[in-house]
Amino acid sequence: MPARPVEFSPELISLLRGGPKVVALTGAGVSQESGLRTFRDAQTGLWAQYKPTELASPEAFQRDPKLVWDWYAWRREAVKGVRPNPGHYALVEIEQRLPHFTLITQNVDNLHRFAGSQNVLELHGNIQRVRCADCYTFTETWDDDTESVPRCRVCNGLLRPDVVWFGESLPRDQLEAAVTAARSCDVFFSIGTSGVVQPAASLAFAAHNRGAVVVEINAEPTPLTPKADYVFEGKSGELLPELVEAIWG
Ligand SMILES: [Zn+2]
Repeated sequence: MPARPVEFSPELISLLRGGPKVVALTGAGVSQESGLRTFRDAQTGLWAQYKPTELASPEAFQRDPKLVWDWYAWRREAVKGVRPNPGHYALVEIEQRLPHFTLITQNVDNLHRFAGSQNVLELHGNIQRVRCADCYTFTETWDDDTESVPRCRVCNGLLRPDVVWFGESLPRDQLEAAVTAARSCDVFFSIGTSGVVQPAASLAFAAHNRGAVVVEINAEPTPLTPKADYVFEGKSGELLPELVEAIWG
């Protein structure tokens, strides 16, 4: 952690003051700063015996829908106790200050929307949303006190979390909007993401190839680091509020 405020280059500050088109991609690092444990670290108690990769798949749901449903019910509860951090709120402020801002997240925890972000593309879905596995109808309420998985009121199909499982493709509308935003932005932020999970990782490179200024904020170097125009190593919950202060403070 730096002992003194980070020096943001005057060029970056003046670029952002000019109201460019900005895209920010966020990953697990942003959630971890809120205390949310990663998928793998979070397997405790009853669930410690299961591997997430063996629960978060269409095959697992087909084999034992109740097990998968209960696991997500447990994870939803765990997420409810987690609050957005200053990095989430800085992204809300950036959105409010800029005419064109798109937030793309790989996180399913809903913390960006909870903080107040409006224009959010969720590449991996949202654990707080539930939909029918068959007809895709979303539902806000369901009966959790049942022996079996709650069913869709429209088609009687099984309900499931609206998250992307291993082996499933990303929601096409979200991905297409993300690619379009990345290709047409002036500044692309890659925040708290390892830069290895595809296709999200390719978005920064797409932006770079189209001439966007790429800014990386992460705890450690990633495959994107050599291509980034600006690299800030550290916590987004500290760096983003400092950046907002430097631009508009
Ligand atoms: Zn249905």
